[in-house]
Amino acid sequence: MPIRQLPAVVVNQIAAGEVVERPASVVKETIENALDAGATHIEVLVEGGGIDRIEIIDDGCGIPMEELPAAVASHATSKVSSLEDLQHIATMGFRGEALASIGSVARLEIRSRPREQDAGSVIVVDHGDTSVPTPAPCPPGTRVVISGLFGRIPARRKFLKTAQAETTRIRRVIRDCAAANPEVSWLFASGGRTLLDLSVTTPRRRLEEVLGSEMSGDMLEINDAEGDISVWGLVGRPALARPTAQHQLLCLNGRPIVDRSLRFAVREAFRGLIEPNRHPTCAIFLSVPPDRVDVNVHPAKTEVRFRDDRLVFSLVRRALEATLSKADIVPSMRRLGEGSTHKVRPATTSAQLFGARSSTGQSVSAPEARAVMASVPQTAEVPVIDAARSALQIHRMFIVTEDAEGMLIIDQHALHERVMFERLLSRISTSPLPSQRLLVPEMIDAEPQSIEALMSIGELLERLGFDVVQGGPSVLVVHAVPSLLAERRVSIGPFMTDLLDRASSLLNMADEETALRDVLDMMACKAAIKAGESLSDIELADLLRMRETVERSSNCPHGRPTTIRLTIEDLERQFGRR
Ligand code: ADP
Ligand code: MG
Repeated sequence: MPIRQLPAVVVNQIAAGEVVERPASVVKETIENALDAGATHIEVLVEGGGIDRIEIIDDGCGIPMEELPAAVASHATSKVSSLEDLQHIATMGFRGEALASIGSVARLEIRSRPREQDAGSVIVVDHGDTSVPTPAPCPPGTRVVISGLFGRIPARRKFLKTAQAETTRIRRVIRDCAAANPEVSWLFASGGRTLLDLSVTTPRRRLEEVLGSEMSGDMLEINDAEGDISVWGLVGRPALARPTAQHQLLCLNGRPIVDRSLRFAVREAFRGLIEPNRHPTCAIFLSVPPDRVDVNVHPAKTEVRFRDDRLVFSLVRRALEATLSKADIVPSMRRLGEGSTHKVRPATTSAQLFGARSSTGQSVSAPEARAVMASVPQTAEVPVIDAARSALQIHRMFIVTEDAEGMLIIDQHALHERVMFERLLSRISTSPLPSQRLLVPEMIDAEPQSIEALMSIGELLERLGFDVVQGGPSVLVVHAVPSLLAERRVSIGPFMTDLLDRASSLLNMADEETALRDVLDMMACKAAIKAGESLSDIELADLLRMRETVERSSNCPHGRPTTIRLTIEDLERQFGRR
C-alpha cells in the first residue's frame, strides 16, 4: 500500500483509542474542561452507564460562537501555545485532543454562552462530521452532551462492562475530582437517581464526605513541606485499611493521579502496622511547582513524572510516618523473616516424632504417636508439641516453643486464624454456621452497587450466619451475624464495610465454594487473636493444642507462614559449634 496521509476523522479515532477508553474517561475529560473554565458548579447526568448519554453542565467562562469549531478541532487548545508553556502546565487540559476524539466516536453537542454575552450558540460533531455553529438559547456556561458512545465502533463497545459497572467507574472519577476541588459544588445523577450531591465546603469536610463519613473520626491529618513542595491530606488509622486500594486517592496540583512509587511510599509508612495484603485508606494532596513535574507523559494525563521523585517520595513517607507516630501508632517490631535467610522448612516426617510426648507430658512410643496422628489424617506431617512444656509468648505477638527438631516461633495471629478457618470450613460442610441476632440492627452506609452485589450472594451469607437486608438505596441493615464474630467481639460495622468492598469480586468468583472460602477467610482473620493481645497460660496451651489438630501445612489462609522453625542444627551453626 502506498503511504498516505490519514483522514482527520481516522486520526481522531486513533487518538480516541488512547484518550477515550470508556464513559468514565469521557466524563473525566469534560469535567477537566469545566474546571479549567473556572466553573463553581458542575453537574454530570448519565443514562445507561454513560454509554447511552452523558450530559455535563458547568457555569464556567463559556466558549464564544466563533471559537466553537476550534474547540472541537484536534490539536486546538486555549491552554498552551508554545513549547515553553508545556514546561509549566497549570491547567488540567493542554493536549487539545479530548473534544475532537470524543466527537469522532460519538455524537457530541456543545451548547455554550460566555458569561459576558447575552446569547449562546451550539455546535454538533456527529462521528467526525462537524456542523456550522448556530445561535441557540443557553444559560451562561457550557453544556456538553455525548450520546451513543462507540455506537458505530462495535469493537470498542464490546470492551465496555455493564451499565452498572460503568456508572461505578464514573462515580469514582467524579468522587476523585470532587475531593480535589472542594470549592466547586457537584451533582451526579444516573438514570435520574442522584448519587452525589456535594455543596462547597472545606477540603477536610469534602474528603470526609467522599471517603465516607463513618471514617471521619479515624482519619488523621498529614501536613509537611520541603522547599516549595508540600503535602497535605488525611490518612486512616490502620483499622481502616481495606482489601483493595480503592480508598487511596492521590492528587497532584488538583489532578487525581496514579503513581506506583507514591503508593509504595504509603505502604512503607504502614509497614508492620497492617497486613501486607491490605491497603491503607488515605487522600494525599501534593503541591509541586508546575515546572518541576511533567504531566505530559500519558495520554489520559493520569501518570506524571516528578523531577525530584526521590524528594517527593520521602516527603510523603515522612509526613505519614510523623502523623502515625504522633498518634502513637508505631510498629513495635519490623516483620520477621524479612531479608533473613531462614526459610520456612517443610514439616517434619513422622519418623521424627519418635520420642515425642503426649499432651499429658508422658512419653509415647512410636506406634502410639502414629495412632494419634492416624485419627486426624491431614495432620500426619505435623510434629506434636507438648503444650504443657515450656512455651513463651514474646512481645505479645509470637509464641516460642520447642519440638523434637529444635525451636518453633509461631505467629499467634496467623496460627489462630488458620485454626479457625479450618474449623469453620469443616463445620459449614455439614450445616449452616450458628448465628446470633443483634439487639439493635446495625445500619451500614454503602454504595448502592455494593449492596446490590452483596444481596445477590444472599444465600451464601445465610449459610454463613448473616441476616442482612437492604434498608434503602444506600443502606444495609444487619440483623444477625455469625456467632463467632459476636463471641470474638468483632466490630460489625468495619467488617460489613470490608465485605461490601469485596462483594462484587465475590460475585464474580468462579464458584460458590471459592466465594465461601473467601468470606470464611475474612471471618477467621477478624476473629483471630491479634498481635498485641496477651495470652494466659491456658490460652497459650489451648492454641498449641489446636495447632496439632488442624494444621495441615505451616501456612495461614493468606499464605503467610504460621510457624518458623530453627533447628538445633541451625542454632549450632549460628553459634559456631559446627
Ligand atoms: P484541552 O482541554 O486539552 O485544551 P479539549 O479538546 O478538551 O482540549 O478542549 C478544547 C478547548 O475547548 C479548550 O482548550 C477550551 O478552550 C475549550 N473548552 C472545552 N470545554 C470547555 C468548557 N466546558 N468551558 C469553556 N471552554 C471549554
Ligand atoms: Mg480538555
